This record gives sequence, C-alpha cells and structure tokens, in this order.
Amino acid sequence: MGSSRTTDRLVAELARRPTPGRRAAQTMLAGILRMPQEEAVRLARLILEVKKKTRACAGCFTLTEEELCPVCADPGRDRGVICVVEEPHDLAALEKARGHRGLYHVLGGVLSPLEGIGPDELRVRELLGRIREGGVREVLVATNPTLEGEATALYLGKQLKGLGVAVTRLARGVPVGGELEYLDEMTLAKAIENRREL
Ligand code: ZN
Repeated sequence: MGSSRTTDRLVAELARRPTPGRRAAQTMLAGILRMPQEEAVRLARLILEVKKKTRACAGCFTLTEEELCPVCADPGRDRGVICVVEEPHDLAALEKARGHRGLYHVLGGVLSPLEGIGPDELRVRELLGRIREGGVREVLVATNPTLEGEATALYLGKQLKGLGVAVTRLARGVPVGGELEYLDEMTLAKAIENRREL
C-alpha cells in the first residue's frame, strides 16, 4: 500500500506500543481508509470518549468506567483469592471461562528486560500492598505461558514468599507460547481448576 505523511504518522502512532506492531497497524489503517467518512468520525469520537471515560479500577487496575470494576464491586466474590493477570483482556478471558470466583490484579504487562520493563513498570508494589492489607489466602499467578510470562511468575513467586499466602500457577494444558485470550473456555476453566503450587 502506498503511504503519505499522514498515513505514515497514523501507522507509526498505532504501532508505537509493543502491540499491535507495524503489520497490524497497517491493516488497521487500510480498514480506516476504507471506512465511509461518517464511520471514521464515529470511530474518532469513540476513541475520545473511551479516553475520557476509562480509568483503572481502584481495586484491581483493570479498565473500567466506574471507581470499581464489576468484579471488585461484587460482594459475592471471594476476596481471599487474587488472580494475577497481565492485561485487562486476560481478565475478560478468565471471566468468560467462569473458573475463578475470587478477585483479580492486573499487572499491566510482563517483565521484559529487553524492552526496559522491570518490576517498577508493573503493578507489583500495588499487589504486595493488597496482600499486606490482609485477608488474602491465595495468589493465583495467571500470566501467559510465554518466556516473559513464566519469568514474571517466578519473580512474583519470590516476592510473595514469606507473606503467608499460597502462591499457585495455572496448570499446564495452557499451550506453551499460547495466550490466554485465544484459549477456549473449557481449557481455561480446567487450567484454573488444576492450578499448581508455584
Ligand atoms: Zn477491579
């Protein structure tokens, strides 16, 4: 596809984060260019609206339009079990699988020394803070079974030692290199059921 200064700028903006990356950003651009004008205006307005209304949940840091997300606000959830995930879409995938009845903690990524992402760039301190507040029996680490996800799980396991909580990890059955978002609900529900000690 040909490009212009503005399309180059848009692709660069879309591709700036580690995801979606340049290829996906170009596909998105192609989609945007094919849109009728009104649809493009609707999309632009929606982006602004999302920007204005969305914030991090005060409990688990997932994206929400309220102070607390529906999970944190639900009095029926088990506050003694915290499931740690990388991103809000992982939380959504686990919720769909309905295997977890506790709360969540969204890290905001994984440790990645190559990209300069250390513990301070993730919400590790906030996780430790939640556990020190008391009432948590178990932390289920549900980072993706990728190299970085495993390294992050091991790191968290070390940080959580001595805090008096059981630390578990999703069972295998989650394919190595796979991402939670793309797993079917049965596999995910099983992986939660068969979680193991970290
Ligand atoms: Zn929440």
